[in-house]
Amino acid sequence: MNKLTNDLSHVTEADRANVWHHLLQHKSLETTDPRIIVKGQGLRIWDQHGAEFIDAVSGGVWTVNVGYGRESIANAIRDQLIELPYWAGSGGTIPGALFSEKLLTKMPGLSRVYYANSGSEANEKVFKMVRQISARLHGGKKSKILYRERDYHGATIGTLAACGQEERAMQYGPFPDGFVAVPHCLEYRAQWDVENYGERAADAIEEVILREGPDTVGLLCLEPVTAGGGVIVPPKGYWQRVQEICKKYDILLHIDEVVCGMGRTGTWFGYQNYGIQPDFVTMAKGVASGYAAISCCVTTEAVFEQFKDASDKLSYFRDISTFGGCTAGPAAALENMRIIEDEGLLANTVAMGERIMANLNALMEKHKVIGDVRGAGLFAGAELVADRATKEPMAEAEVSRVVAEGAKRGVMFGMTNRSLTGFNNTLCFSPALIATPDDIDAITDAVDGALTAVFG
Ligand code: PMP
Repeated sequence: MNKLTNDLSHVTEADRANVWHHLLQHKSLETTDPRIIVKGQGLRIWDQHGAEFIDAVSGGVWTVNVGYGRESIANAIRDQLIELPYWAGSGGTIPGALFSEKLLTKMPGLSRVYYANSGSEANEKVFKMVRQISARLHGGKKSKILYRERDYHGATIGTLAACGQEERAMQYGPFPDGFVAVPHCLEYRAQWDVENYGERAADAIEEVILREGPDTVGLLCLEPVTAGGGVIVPPKGYWQRVQEICKKYDILLHIDEVVCGMGRTGTWFGYQNYGIQPDFVTMAKGVASGYAAISCCVTTEAVFEQFKDASDKLSYFRDISTFGGCTAGPAAALENMRIIEDEGLLANTVAMGERIMANLNALMEKHKVIGDVRGAGLFAGAELVADRATKEPMAEAEVSRVVAEGAKRGVMFGMTNRSLTGFNNTLCFSPALIATPDDIDAITDAVDGALTAVFG
């Protein structure tokens, strides 16, 4: 029982009457109850009616990497809060220092951690750092920020200026200047008829740089695996070319690991699958598995050095984030990393990732509506199409029905972000990294059942 109340029908009504839910079209709550999740344990969650589900999306948005009910994280937070809950980020704290030290052991080549609260905020920090470097070293000229179609970097005005998903950004402009899109790299929806698709898609970035003028471009910001935009794993050859291009034009490379960071793809960070060396890495969701709010912007000593010119009063990073000084986040994050290490969750992620891909590929044989299956570690997507030959995307309403049928079968899986141009058609699977073979099979069995229920 929750200590706040055991009157769950009151909670349901209090929610309906008072809460404005993220991303939700609230008209739907006039005819259905809001779903209140009241408890979680391992991979399982329970709603206010006592219904049990396997959570195949780690808290809805790829966050609870080590699963629910981790008393050791709760205890680490509790102990730290009693000792010291908060000190402004301009000073130091014990968990802040120890977590940054531990984190950087997993990120060779990077050497500084800047704390914030959300993925959006961490990404904004990078944009500001790049703009400040441009102002100080390049007279403000090398300030453009490139982002990729279908990628997402956050909900603030600045990060929406870098949003590759038009439905998220529409009606929220005007946006700041200097944000420029590069093409997506999803080979299933190929834009070029070539053999080495990865290199070709990366060359398309170079074309944008040359069009804009290399001396005007400061940053290239990419998700290692595009998450909400369709679980897009860049094709072979892509990342090596991207790194070459950034080096060639002196453009800083920012990898947004808000989703992929902390083990999701079977390595500590998604970029580590590709042998590249970024200048900035941002992370949020899995850093403390949602037990406390924390995000980090991690960068190189070379970038950090740019902000240390004592002869220039404006050279330091003039940025602050009140809750970047909370101690619960790094305390939880330290314990979260210990769990991932001690329980061998990276290896489990690789093994279970292979299993979910094998299962989904088998389902593709059976269900013609699955047009493509993609994934990296415990992060998989099945793109649904109305017609395999034309690849016409399945209508959003049908994909939503599949998700609802999954829930009826006791499994919650997700679908990619809504879009006006039709990439809201990919089912998403990102269970906690503790998933067992039985959990994975239960998830894909539910997909099988749900697809059969909706499409026969
Ligand atoms: N980057 C990526 C890749 C994301 O998926 C998200 C959130 N879905 C964000 C940034 C923004 O993170 P937050 O919601 O914590 O601001």
